[in-house]
Amino acid sequence: MHRDKSEGLLRRAAAVMPGGVNSPVRAFKGVGGSPVFFESAQGAHMVDVDGNRYIDYVGAWGPMVQGHGFAPLVQAVQRQAAAGLGFGAPTEAEVDMAERLVARVPAIEKARLVNSGTEATMTALRLARGFTGRDLIVKFDGCYHGHSDALLVKAGSGALTLGMPDSAGVPAAVARNTLSVPYNDMDAVDAVLRRHGDAIAAVIVEPVAGNMGCVPPDAHFLPGLREATERVGALLIFDEVMTGFRVGPAGAGALHGVVADLVTLGKVIGGGLPVAALGGRAEVMDHLAPDGPVYQAGTLSGNPLATAAGISMLDALNEAFYTRLAANTQTLADGLAACAQSHQVPVCVNRVCGMFSIFFTSAPAVRGFADVMACDRERYGRFFHAMLDAGVYFAPSAFEAAFVSGAHGEEEIASTLAAADLAFARVHA
Ligand SMILES: *Cc1c(COP(=O)(O)O)cnc(C)c1O
Repeated sequence: MHRDKSEGLLRRAAAVMPGGVNSPVRAFKGVGGSPVFFESAQGAHMVDVDGNRYIDYVGAWGPMVQGHGFAPLVQAVQRQAAAGLGFGAPTEAEVDMAERLVARVPAIEKARLVNSGTEATMTALRLARGFTGRDLIVKFDGCYHGHSDALLVKAGSGALTLGMPDSAGVPAAVARNTLSVPYNDMDAVDAVLRRHGDAIAAVIVEPVAGNMGCVPPDAHFLPGLREATERVGALLIFDEVMTGFRVGPAGAGALHGVVADLVTLGKVIGGGLPVAALGGRAEVMDHLAPDGPVYQAGTLSGNPLATAAGISMLDALNEAFYTRLAANTQTLADGLAACAQSHQVPVCVNRVCGMFSIFFTSAPAVRGFADVMACDRERYGRFFHAMLDAGVYFAPSAFEAAFVSGAHGEEEIASTLAAADLAFARVHA
């Protein structure tokens, strides 16, 4: 499999764009080699500029839960493009979209649409601070919440891949207001809350972590956070930009029976177009401008094209969809684990509904950032390249979750396992 055109494009890109990419996670810094430039995609497959075809487990980093080129969504976007690309004024579609979020996510009584997950979490923090009159934020090591200053402290995902979980350019005065503690560690949370309780505006968490690879919460973790935040009068923010409509029809909070004060959404709710949202208790949300004193605005927020995509995506996601998605993901994850074992490659495969991660480790479980950091990244890199050459596209980083879509069926799973048989053999060698 040659990728001459991709390599040529990277040379052109690097001359005019920092690192040749518009988002660092697309570079191959974590695995070595040259990023693949893509041209088209349909269902579970993507085709690169050299004509190579891959089974895709990146899914545009999450949005493509129905696979690429999902017909109802494409048609809705085409219809809306003809009707108008933007008005800078309210539309019925925004109401339809917000009503769907309120109807589906128990924590959401009111919602605001924005353009990216970063915007949603940044606004959620400002809102929590405006509502509580407090400054401190608690987050968890290895959780990524977008690239706003306050949240680039011990962040996961792209920042972690580049070995810079704490970004340059974040003022120390800002970083000081963010406290980061280990994921799944209620003792650490309790200690921070005992010390700083009455100064903490919010605890923000990925209710299933996905940006250090897929790390599910322990049974007591989310209920513990709910109880602890209530005790000190801080808000609980579930950042469901990745997990919202990825792990179930109402998100990870609902899966665990815990209702947060604020929820952020993105990725799936735009189906590939720029839509994100924050929502929560009406009492809190009403602090947003124009009714309240917390300012937030957006020229493109709730834009008609993106909203049309979001509505058709949400309308296609029901219980039956997630039952099948979870079953297919389990078949694949179990198959990959068995395949690794047959080649004597120690792995731990974590899985929640439509997301999973293969951690190259002999540890019996991966429960947090320290476990993730103990994994063999070099082995992941070899696995990644072997899969890529066999026509399977995983994320170019050991710290990302893999995403299965409704378009991944028996055939794709069988082909993936066949490729993995070769890849694990190469990893073992
Ligand atoms: C992707 C992600 C974000 C950031 O969203 P963008 O749309 O990339 O700005 C925030 N939080 C979580 C949990 C994410 O997975």
